[in-house]
Formats: sequence, C-alpha cells, structure tokens
Amino acid sequence: MKINFLDLNSQYLSIRDEIGTAIQAVLDSSAFASGPFVEEFETAFASFCDCEYAIGVGSGTEAIWLSLAALGVGPGDEVITVPNTFIATVEAISMCGAEPVFVDIDEITYNMDVHKIEGAITRKTKAIVPVHLFGHPVDMDPVMEIASAYDLPVVEDACQAHGATYKKHPAGSIGTVGCFSFYPGKNLGAYGDAGAVVTNNPAIANTIKSLRDHGQSKKYYHDTIGWNARMDGLQGAILNVKLRHLAGWNLNRRANAQHYNKRLQGLKNITTPHEANYATHVYHVYVIRAPSRDLLIQGLSEMNIYCGIHYPVPIHLQAAYRFLGLKPGSFPVAEKYAKEIISLPMFAELTEPQIELVVKGIETVLT
Ligand SMILES: *Cc1c(COP(=O)(O)O)cnc(C)c1O
Repeated sequence: MKINFLDLNSQYLSIRDEIGTAIQAVLDSSAFASGPFVEEFETAFASFCDCEYAIGVGSGTEAIWLSLAALGVGPGDEVITVPNTFIATVEAISMCGAEPVFVDIDEITYNMDVHKIEGAITRKTKAIVPVHLFGHPVDMDPVMEIASAYDLPVVEDACQAHGATYKKHPAGSIGTVGCFSFYPGKNLGAYGDAGAVVTNNPAIANTIKSLRDHGQSKKYYHDTIGWNARMDGLQGAILNVKLRHLAGWNLNRRANAQHYNKRLQGLKNITTPHEANYATHVYHVYVIRAPSRDLLIQGLSEMNIYCGIHYPVPIHLQAAYRFLGLKPGSFPVAEKYAKEIISLPMFAELTEPQIELVVKGIETVLT
C-alpha cells in the first residue's frame, strides 16, 4: 500500500456531488470574478473566524501583503517575524519594500519565541507577523501586550491554522488582521489559489477591499494604486461547500494526531508535537523530530510512505534573502530544527491502518 503525504482525491470523492452542484451554479450565473459566491463565502468565513469582516483575495501571499500595505508598511520599515515559515510570509514584507527582522522560535511549540520580540523592536518597526505554524497557535497574549505597549499592529499569518483556537479565540481573530490561504493542500483548500483577510476594523477592511481591486472605490475611479488580487467566483463557491465540512475534517486531523502520538511517544529519539494548554491544534501538518531525519525519510519512501519537510531551509539562509547578511547561527533553534523535522502523512481521511503502517515503518527504520 502506498501512503501519500497528502490525498486530495479522497476528500474530493466524499463531497463530489456538492462540489459539482456548486460549480454548475457559478457557470450558470457567469459570476467568475468576485461576485455573489465570493460574498457568500466572505460572510460565512468571517463568522467562522468570529470576525466582523472577511475579504477574499487571490492567495495567502496576497492576504499578508495587502494587510501590511493597508497598515502603511513601506520602504524603510521593519517587520518582525520568524525564520521558520513558508517564504510567503517574508515575501509579503519584501513586496511592501520593508525589511524582515527575524526572532528565533520557541523550543516546545516551534512558534515565535515571544520573549525575543521586544529585543527586535527598533524605531523602524512597523508590524509584528506571528505565524501559527503547522496549525498550532502562537502564544498571542504576550504578543498583543508588546504590540499594544509599542503601538504596533499584529498581522496573524493563519495560513496553516483554519479553525485553530487560542484560549477559545479562533486563530486570525486576535491580531489587527488575520491572513488565510486556501491553497489546495491547506486545511480549508480551494481548487486553485485563493486567500482571505479577516478583521474587526472597518477602515482596514475597506482599504484591503479597495487594494485587491485596483484601488477603485467605484468602477474606473481609482483612489490609490492597488492590484488585481480578487478571489475567483469558482473558488468562492467551492470554499462555501468545503467550509461546512472544515470543523469535522479538523476533528479527524486531531484524532489522527492523537493516534500518532499514542503510538510514537514510546519511541526513542522521536519527539512528537506538543499542544499547549491554551491551544487547539488543527494539525495542518504533523511534525516530529528525529536526529536521523534524512535516513528516516529515505527508509520510509522505500516502503512507499511519503513524508515532507516544513521547512528544510530557514528563510534567512535562503539564497533569495542572502542580501540580509544573516549568517548560520543567527537563529539556533530554527536552524537546528530545520535539520530534524519530518512531516508525516496527515489529512482528514487518513485511516488508522495507514497510521499503523507509518508507525511500523518508522520502527523498522529505527531498529
Ligand atoms: C501557504 C502559506 C502562505 C501562502 O499562502 P498561498 O495561498 O500559497 O499564497 C503563507 N504563509 C504560510 C505559513 C503558509 O503556509
């Protein structure tokens, strides 16, 4: 039996008829760019996130970029984030012409080390971007306290954390804005690229609405220079269907994670993921650490079990960000973990026998 890292097809098959009907409705109404299906999704997703507003955009990258732009981040500014994230978090900062300033991560949660934020703040700091990595929320209370003390906006990168909670508050609803990606492999995935920003601030919501549509307040009347960052009608309709299943899919992911935890906890040299007592983890990826990471991945792939690495190279060591001049050793925890992490197969439809095979595979390679 082959076990893929991700299986989008099994999920599609479980909702095939609903999706077919939703797509047909878009085709019948020609509402292809923005329009009623996107608006219906925005209303439903805002409510799912306990927020007043949701603004559909073309991707998670655009959600973060337009959020920072709407907050006035520009050339000469600094934005604080982490080096162990998908590059989009940092690209969005660069797209504004600002400079990313990294802080190292916490050894237990793999998220931003909140004790390091204050030391990274300068007179140029314009925003803080915590990343709810792997589906586990950042410890947001200290982040919000520091942000408030220094009068800085907080842009939550919740692109991996749809439905995760921090002290019962949905990820994305705590900062100034929350940014989501609906890339197909995310917990809530479109059938193409899409993203959204959620917020309770009406002025920011309006600015992002304008920026995503060429800065126009009225058709062909442009107040500012914006971009084409709209969500497609087809993606809105598909996301409307899938949002109804998200809570159930997240519960399945949590059950799968518990099963992995139970079976892996006894294994020497394997560190299973932690769920802080303030958190509901939604396991966008299930990440373990093993010192012999590359051997383990190789051994599993020979048994037809496919894993991932999120992410093999911290952003400050990527070729694209060499110009920042940050040397190896700058962020020791992020750098150490990048060499040890493995993402095991994880999706809502993963079965217990499949998990059992993955665990047996790991045991075989390790002994
Ligand atoms: C997926 C992701 C993004 C970018 O989203 P896209 O929709 O692919 O543009 C940003 N940040 C994180 C942490 C992500 O996982």
